[in-house]
Amino acid sequence: RMLKKQTQCCLDIDRLNAAFLAIYESLIPPEEEKMKQELFLMSLEKLVNKEWPEARLYLYGSCANSFGVSKSDIDVCLVIEDAEINKSEVLLKLADILQSDNLQNVQALTRARVPIVKLMDPATGISCDICINNVLAVVNTKLLRDYAQIDVRLRQLAFIVKHWAKSRGVNATYQGTLSSYAYVLMCIHFLQQRRPAILPCLQEMRTTYSVTVDDIQCAYFDQVEKLRGFGSRNRETIARLVWAFFNYWAYGHDYANAVISVRTGSILSKHEKEWTRRIGNDRHLICIEDPFEISHDLGRVVDKFSIKVLREEFERAAEILQYDPNPCATLFEPY
Ligand code: ATP
Ligand code: MG
Repeated sequence: RMLKKQTQCCLDIDRLNAAFLAIYESLIPPEEEKMKQELFLMSLEKLVNKEWPEARLYLYGSCANSFGVSKSDIDVCLVIEDAEINKSEVLLKLADILQSDNLQNVQALTRARVPIVKLMDPATGISCDICINNVLAVVNTKLLRDYAQIDVRLRQLAFIVKHWAKSRGVNATYQGTLSSYAYVLMCIHFLQQRRPAILPCLQEMRTTYSVTVDDIQCAYFDQVEKLRGFGSRNRETIARLVWAFFNYWAYGHDYANAVISVRTGSILSKHEKEWTRRIGNDRHLICIEDPFEISHDLGRVVDKFSIKVLREEFERAAEILQYDPNPCATLFEPY
């Protein structure tokens, strides 16, 4: 009878598959949106090159890592290879240039953790943030995009998790919850851990791509076209994976001791990372190691209040997927 009950439960979960796929499809940005962004980037670069002929612009974040939903803001990184520059001066100068080119809502935020210029292009409606020399973000964007090429279930899972996090108000680092970047890393790690594995660990494989940024060596296997079909021995559906993902974060994860690590494709201990003590504002209540800046815990924004909110939301999601008659609607209900 136990067996029968279990099979029944699995069938029920798989029945939700079409609904989850439909949500995923509805979130994918249309091709023409990508084209518009590329054209806008080129016009920006032309403008910037009048002042800094050697400077280059790169897209990073969700518009370039393949985890962006339709109508997201775009993240742009201005790279100037001159060690002498003063970031604040460059940002203010940049804001000036953009302002005189009729871009709207131009604002230089020079005191932010990552200083940026914000702007909106009235012609296309594109909003964008420009930062300076944040090359590590460009490189981690490539890592995420490369993982997404290996198995479509990563993109599906991450879209659904991000959509859930935005709907439930747990996607705001300034409120002590997690960034989109952290959620995507949680999804990659989760798929590395399935048995059979759905994703490999690219940083443990032969190096085919390597750059050094701010003294950090970023190296991994990036010939991902050779890895298509890597996860095909695992036939779990997206509905099953969403269910298992929330179960893991609700009931399976060892919050007291564990650190999830995409870099090693495994779980590390807080002890070996020396993340057991609170240092300054870093509390390490949920630990997500950055794949390149390995001393950086993406969960460090989480405090003793927001950890409760987060865990209650994971539990709510797991319960809904288990018992709710119409989970696809309830899961994304606004908070
Ligand atoms: P969204 O669709 O919500 O805009 P996003 O992928 O753009 O999602 P953000 O969290 O806005 O995600 O981050 C943008 C990019 O900035 C990330 O893709 C990553 O490259 C970089 N980034 C963000 N937070 C961190 C961090 N704490 N450490 C290192 N890089 C980060
Ligand atoms: Mg973004």
